[in-house]
Amino acid sequence: MAKRQPNTCSFCGRVMPEMFSGMDANVLICHECVEAGHKMIATMPRKVAVKSGELTLSSLPTPQKIKEFLDMYVIGQDDAKRYLSVAVYNHYKRVLQEISNDDVEIEKSNILLVGSTGTGKTLLARTIAKMLKVPFAIGDATALTQAGYVGEDVESLLVRLLQDADYDVAKAQRGIVFIDEIDKIARKSENMSITRDVSGEGVQQSLLKMLEGSIVNVPPHGGRKHPDQEMIHVDTKNILFICGGAFDGIERKISQRMNTQTVGFAAQEKAAQVDKNNLLQYIAPQDLKSYGLIPEIIGRLPVLTYLQPLSKEALRNILTEPKNALTKQYKKLLAMDNVDLTYDDKALDFIVDKAIEYKLGARGLRGLMETVMTDLMYELPNKKHLGTIQHFTITQEYVEQKLGKEKLVQLKNAV
Ligand code: ADP
Repeated sequence: MAKRQPNTCSFCGRVMPEMFSGMDANVLICHECVEAGHKMIATMPRKVAVKSGELTLSSLPTPQKIKEFLDMYVIGQDDAKRYLSVAVYNHYKRVLQEISNDDVEIEKSNILLVGSTGTGKTLLARTIAKMLKVPFAIGDATALTQAGYVGEDVESLLVRLLQDADYDVAKAQRGIVFIDEIDKIARKSENMSITRDVSGEGVQQSLLKMLEGSIVNVPPHGGRKHPDQEMIHVDTKNILFICGGAFDGIERKISQRMNTQTVGFAAQEKAAQVDKNNLLQYIAPQDLKSYGLIPEIIGRLPVLTYLQPLSKEALRNILTEPKNALTKQYKKLLAMDNVDLTYDDKALDFIVDKAIEYKLGARGLRGLMETVMTDLMYELPNKKHLGTIQHFTITQEYVEQKLGKEKLVQLKNAV
């Protein structure tokens, strides 16, 4: 910087004996403004270093924006989406917060999603990770066993997360892990010996440390740990854990709790308002404890929400509404072969009816559609070379022809 003699500072407007100018000789700054600026920068809260494209506080979507994104991929489940959006927003605010000097420590908000299988628990978790562009891993609690027993160690969940982050540890440390079937590691009975409950309370204890936030030694390529192996140290403090489980029969526990709590006239009135067909909406931490989760695990999953069973209407919407709905996918695939594919409403209604009749659920829709579409996808590309657009409409008759009873039984057995 060149030194200049008396002039006006472009920042404070004062005439000072000493002035500095930078690249632009017309802009001058006095030594007092330089000092003030330096102080300001030095005392500014330090931001967490971020690589381009990574999540920052300013790019973090608000809960409403998160929910809007979820709405594009997941049908219904409004309550779960709202809880999830707020929890995820708070989690990443906590992770990305600027280092502050106050004593207010924001606690981690891992999430527990309770709902029947195939209602969208995994889809919700996966969609959030997709939106935030953070690494994502799915694990199944039933595959996990207490360290030292046959089965996977809990660290295996982090191996998958590391792999998804291309072994960028810092990136993995801000990822999301979805642990499915957490209900299957519930304690089998209140007074069962811990040492023999290899896949129950023992696993809950192993999971606990990870959920709380600790440094976990992860074998880089998965598999069992062995003493001479070099380990990757993963800090789970900022990893968001979303657990899911069907908790079959938990409605009984909810109803028992609600009955014992309801005594007296006011309570009777309250009981009358209870929607007995959807008890899951009243789920509370006590019910999880009665079901066999240990209190420490429940404490580490403070955001508890539920998913509704999917109605006929929801199943129908799943076929057409989501951004990557199955019907849209087949349409796109065939458009590449110059085929304009349309579906009659009745054809889709028929598919949904069969999904319900054979209890195939949302997960079964894929198999049903695949069965309907396979012959077409085999035959139509053959005429691609003709250069003209072919039109094909999937009618109810066509679907009925493809979904014979035998096929449906096969699909049911596969779910
Ligand atoms: P869960 O984890 O609850 O067992 P998934 O999220 O794995 O269920 O759902 C299985 C499949 O069913 C998903 O991949 C998706 O195709 C479909 N599906 C389930 N629920 C929904 C939903 N609410 N909206 C859209 N698709 C859904």
